[in-house]
Amino acid sequence: MLRVENLRKVYQEGTKRAFEAVADLSFTVEQRELVCIVGPSGAGKTTLLKMIAGLLTPSSGTVHLDGEVVTGPPEKMALVFQDYSRSLYPWMTVEQNVAFPLKHRKLGKGEATGLIRDTLQSVGLAGAGAKYPWQLSGGMQQRVAIARALAYQPEILLMDEPFASVDAQTRADLEDLVLQLRARYGVTVVFVTHDIDESVYLSDRVIVLTPSPTRVQEIVDIPLPRPRDQVDTKELPEFAQLRGYVWRSIKRPELTDAPV
Ligand code: ADP
Ligand code: MG
Repeated sequence: MLRVENLRKVYQEGTKRAFEAVADLSFTVEQRELVCIVGPSGAGKTTLLKMIAGLLTPSSGTVHLDGEVVTGPPEKMALVFQDYSRSLYPWMTVEQNVAFPLKHRKLGKGEATGLIRDTLQSVGLAGAGAKYPWQLSGGMQQRVAIARALAYQPEILLMDEPFASVDAQTRADLEDLVLQLRARYGVTVVFVTHDIDESVYLSDRVIVLTPSPTRVQEIVDIPLPRPRDQVDTKELPEFAQLRGYVWRSIKRPELTDAPV
């Protein structure tokens, strides 16, 4: 469904201070797959997502979505960012926030209202439609951002460290919410995180990035059974093994790095 080919990004091209953030990235994501992208801070993860989302032009290489080259924000894609406090409009209610991107869709009024109600319910915020974002906790605000992305009915959902600024319990709940929503809506998910446990817990595959200038260090299959559970899954010896494997791949890249 998504094909990233030899993607490269140099910031400030043509000047002396040019910086090669992304060197050469290639990978694919299948329909309905949940792929996590992990790499250290500054590894170019956000740069990569912005190029996939058509918000940033690659210096070279291409992104294909459903066989078409991405040159601007694709219709069938939605994004959830880390910083929920900046991603919601503070002067709009929760319902209005979720409704906002739907204005670009030609939906009947009843259809839009139904979608908003369903998605708010599916993220556990059925009663919060009339509230303002600042009346909600961080975790609830991030649920609103997820509801807004889902109401848009994307085929593919990009998430950039979406749970990095919520507490551990909320984070676990939101991780499970993503798994449930993927099962329910069948959406393809590309999830960026620097948290190795999170990547193994959520993924079908983990794509490990090198530090900048970024390449793919390794792609790790995660054949853990589904549905997953925060306690049972994490107690499996296979979970510990995979977690250790990804951890070592990130922390000691020199051990697995194949020089070109
Ligand atoms: P990550 O999301 O993995 O933390 P980023 O994609 O945000 O990494 O950044 C990768 C590298 O590119 C960093 O070194 C960052 O400083 C640099 N960078 C990001 N955005 C810009 C920009 N607009 N101009 C110049 N350098 C940038
Ligand atoms: Mg980032």
